[in-house]
Amino acid sequence: MSRETALNLAFHAFDSGALRTDLARRVALATESQRPESAPVLHAYLSDEVANALAALGFACEIVENPVEGMPPFLLAERIEAPELPTVLLYGHGDVVGGDAERWSEGRSPWQLRVEGDRWYGRGMADNKGQHTVNLAALAAVFGARGRLGFNAKVLFEMGEEVGSPGLAALCESLRERLAADLLIASDGPRQRADAPTLFLGSRGALHFRLRARSSAGARHSGNWGGVLANPATVLANALASLVDGHGRIRINGLLPPPIAPQVRTRIADLEIGVDEGDPDLSPGWGEPGLTPAERVYAWNTLEVLAMEAGDVRQPVSAIPELAQAVCQLRFVVGTDWRNARELIRAHLAREGFADIDVEIEASGAATRLDPDHPWVAWAERSIATSTGKPTTILPNLGGTIPNECFAHTLGLPTIWVPHSYPGCRQHAPNEHGLAPVLREGLGLMAGLFWDLGSGDTPQAKHVAHAR
Ligand SMILES: [Zn+2]
Repeated sequence: MSRETALNLAFHAFDSGALRTDLARRVALATESQRPESAPVLHAYLSDEVANALAALGFACEIVENPVEGMPPFLLAERIEAPELPTVLLYGHGDVVGGDAERWSEGRSPWQLRVEGDRWYGRGMADNKGQHTVNLAALAAVFGARGRLGFNAKVLFEMGEEVGSPGLAALCESLRERLAADLLIASDGPRQRADAPTLFLGSRGALHFRLRARSSAGARHSGNWGGVLANPATVLANALASLVDGHGRIRINGLLPPPIAPQVRTRIADLEIGVDEGDPDLSPGWGEPGLTPAERVYAWNTLEVLAMEAGDVRQPVSAIPELAQAVCQLRFVVGTDWRNARELIRAHLAREGFADIDVEIEASGAATRLDPDHPWVAWAERSIATSTGKPTTILPNLGGTIPNECFAHTLGLPTIWVPHSYPGCRQHAPNEHGLAPVLREGLGLMAGLFWDLGSGDTPQAKHVAHAR
């Protein structure tokens, strides 16, 4: 019984084809949470796949109805070995975005795992079936090597992540005691680079808002009325320019983050963006001046115009359009005053002379970030480096957004995310795939992490000793 045995068992899951068999079965379940008719298959994924895998390791499993009516259920599972051992909460989601089958190339299908060289194609291979299948197999490897886990584990799976995690916050709120743990370990999103084992400690938040400029006079002839009636498209374009300039720099101070903390800055000092094969060239001179590209993605806010519309560009007519609208997205790091965004944007627009523009917040998700100096971060970093023989890249937060608020804030857990995908994975797009070396390395490093969690030398153990 040794750490090495656990890692070897995990690698064996890859080398023997067992991981591939599990993934082929899971990918074949079209768990598209946007489609109401998916309800039976969403349920089946939890009962037949996740619960079966966990029951084999002695977990007690329960499928729990969603507190939001009509939304997919959750799976709660736990294996408590002893009260003094550390307790981890594991999370994953079994639903996927739409398959979009017609747009996959080379005869690939979203619902059939196809291995081409190092690429394992199939919907969910990056997000999230490939990732949680690695974690479940690593858990089984540790169980196989030790005959038990050596720690307590609680598991939460949802089937609605791709439709905004309905009910997840309410569930965490109502089951605080039952979900109590010492830390969260979960896997989603990409590594910073394909060959760099990565941890991230939270994510940027996202806020979608719609701006509408409308003419009370309705659409009017541009010759007879141009020059005396305000044009909503012109007004909106200038309002947008007052929010973000032509080089991507945010101009509304209220939506900027606080200064970058030193422990964040040092963690990302050496990171490069867009250097993997297939990555696009970065736009020169774009974004906040004086920051590195990594600081712009991981430690600053961005304001993107996602969509805009006025008149009919396919069939323009000589008229002042009645309505112009744009949907914008603020990606923000912790410390941003995003909850007051509507008031801040309205006040800014009024100051800039655009008081008549209507501002509506359409969706939002909070930013989270565990302190990079937290003892669980150093623990995980050490464990992964021991397993892989490589330095571990630590991102204070993901550039994208994940539902981490319920774990970090509602449950108050240190959150450690260990991604098993990479930036070129085509997540949410046709030809989504996992990368064989990343999956295999992920199996080993997760087995190492789970092994170490049961080996006594954890921040929780020190905490318990201190309390005595
Ligand atoms: Zn997703």
